Amino acid sequence: MRILLAEDDPMITDGLVRALRKSSYAVDHVNNGADADTALMSQQFDLLILDLGLPKLQGIEVLRRLRARKNALPVLILTAQDGLSDRVRGLDAGADDYLTKPFALPELEARVRALTRRGTAQSNRIEFGRLSYDQAERVARCDEQILDLSARELALLEILLLRVGRLVSKDHLVGHLCGWGEEVSTNAIEVYVHRLRKKLEPCQVRINTMRGLGYILVKPDTGADVENH
Ligand code: CA
Repeated sequence: MRILLAEDDPMITDGLVRALRKSSYAVDHVNNGADADTALMSQQFDLLILDLGLPKLQGIEVLRRLRARKNALPVLILTAQDGLSDRVRGLDAGADDYLTKPFALPELEARVRALTRRGTAQSNRIEFGRLSYDQAERVARCDEQILDLSARELALLEILLLRVGRLVSKDHLVGHLCGWGEEVSTNAIEVYVHRLRKKLEPCQVRINTMRGLGYILVKPDTGADVENH
């Protein structure tokens, strides 16, 4: 899951980026509305967290432009405590939810979970072979036994599971696992895949390498005719 955070307050930004990355989201940050608008036109995100009081281009205008482009990206707006009219304008302009500053981080995380779930429009639990993954809990299990996965491995598994049986390119993984400023090479992706593959061994699922193309998550009996490294 990749989140764009548009917020100009460094303190709030710092806390949010830390909390969200800890919950294994990839977070990109911009500190003004113009950069948010540009990023939204050129990149794919799963959620936008949008402060309405932004320099260069107001948050509400960023939101209006996004919806004018028929982009249905879930949007959580952040508004000032006395900003009742802002909230109303934001929701009218197509925001999915709002939070009033100051807010507690667990509350923000709960909203983010709810909105990113809505984005995928599926049940929270994905099952494949003996593997199951709960998107709300962000926990993977093999026969009800919780797998010990790092935040990156968990994010990687989620991407593969959401496209199970389909090819996932390395570029797609790089784009969704890494926020700006924490560039991860395709070599690093290979390392994460290698580690995850080992941990998935008991689950009767396999990550196959399609050389030069990317990866595909399969059950072993359906994985014929592809290379497995
Ligand atoms: Ca602001």
